[in-house]
Amino acid sequence: MTEHHPNPAGTYDVNIGLEVHAQLLTRTKIFCGCTTKFGNPPNSNTCPVCLGMPGVLPVLNRKAVECAIKVGLATGAKILRRSLFARKNYFYPDLPKGYQISMYDRPLCTGGGIEIETPKGRKRIGLTRIHLEEDAGKLIHEGIAGAGDRTCIDLNRAGVPLIEIVSEPEIASPEEAHSYLSALRSLLLHLGVCDCNMEEGSLRCDANVSVRPALRKELGTRIELKNLNSFRFIQRALQYEIERQSAVLREGGTLVQESRLYDPAAGETLPMRSKEEAHDYRYFPEPDLLPLVVEEAWIDEIRRGLPELPLARKGRLEKEYGIPAYDAGVLTSTPGLADYFEAVARASKSPKAASNWVMREVLGKLKEEKAGIAACPIPPESLAELIGLVLAGTISGTSAAEVFEEMWTGGRAPAEIVGERGLAL
Ligand code: ADP
Ligand code: MG
Ligand code: ZN
Repeated sequence: MTEHHPNPAGTYDVNIGLEVHAQLLTRTKIFCGCTTKFGNPPNSNTCPVCLGMPGVLPVLNRKAVECAIKVGLATGAKILRRSLFARKNYFYPDLPKGYQISMYDRPLCTGGGIEIETPKGRKRIGLTRIHLEEDAGKLIHEGIAGAGDRTCIDLNRAGVPLIEIVSEPEIASPEEAHSYLSALRSLLLHLGVCDCNMEEGSLRCDANVSVRPALRKELGTRIELKNLNSFRFIQRALQYEIERQSAVLREGGTLVQESRLYDPAAGETLPMRSKEEAHDYRYFPEPDLLPLVVEEAWIDEIRRGLPELPLARKGRLEKEYGIPAYDAGVLTSTPGLADYFEAVARASKSPKAASNWVMREVLGKLKEEKAGIAACPIPPESLAELIGLVLAGTISGTSAAEVFEEMWTGGRAPAEIVGERGLAL
């Protein structure tokens, strides 16, 4: 609880710390051989281990550890040579064992950071830790034919490997939170460790936020926001919460540490429960698993196998293609988009035109259709060909826009459309 800190002038500084859960792209679960495939019939991806039957033993998935180490290395974290799994005890119907196997006081990675862009330049948000844990099942409260008002349980997700990436409370605004999440998402996608599909729950975020009178050192009382399933909602929920907290303090009130739920329809946050403290979980070292020991040689091997990371790629795109930093930032937001741009740029021999077309036309269309670059129906070579026709003066810019539309919907080559419609100048 904070004491009274009335601040009639009403200027508050903001601290935000994000806890991001990312589902790892392994073929099988973290402690058993069940498939992690999304969308299978409820409870079909299960076995005695992930159903929490008595007498079974977990066996750690090496690939999950490798994915977590990749993220640790890519964020400059320290990889602990010896980390520990721990039991986090709590009762909930989606958790058949009555505890979740997670990591507690010896997580796999500590430290590191994520670089974000802010209007004032680049800023590094520190990471507290990255640890491995198993996912819980899923409760389904609606949409099951004939189930009435029952709640159903699907344990396909129970035991799917997760990493939790915990940031320091160094994020200073909802916009910075958005940049942090975009940078993290791009990193996870480039590493190929998570598909970052928020609709399917592969990327989930809890946001902790507090406000404090400007210039005061100690952090304010943190509120944890749950149920944030898009970057936009996270930004809006934070905005709302910062205003709510500031108003309480401004009027001389106090805040209690609690979890609140964001209601996107109402655009407000509502109290959910008072926040558990760590001791409520009665953490203790998982007796069914040995300490996780990773050898230096393996870490080195993983380091050598790291792909080009988003920041490096952004720098390279700026240099190699002579495009503005802003363009390079947008184009490296996902590896698929960067690949697409590079293919168009190489084939068209005019990188600047390629960047303009991808940034305006292609991204504009995809935004309308709420789809990713994978859904773009125009092969990069065809777009390059269209750009070539404009640059050669064969067609006008206005015709090019028309041809682009037709390529998008009809899936045909530009020359064919130009010929058929007699658009050549
Ligand atoms: P828990 O599991 O209880 O939520 P964690 O340690 O996993 O605790 O996460 C705590 C998160 O809250 C971190 O991201 C941290 O940066 C953030 N945090 C801690 N204190 C504050 C605060 N006063 N204001 C804002 N964020 C905070
Ligand atoms: Mg947490
Ligand atoms: Zn299983």
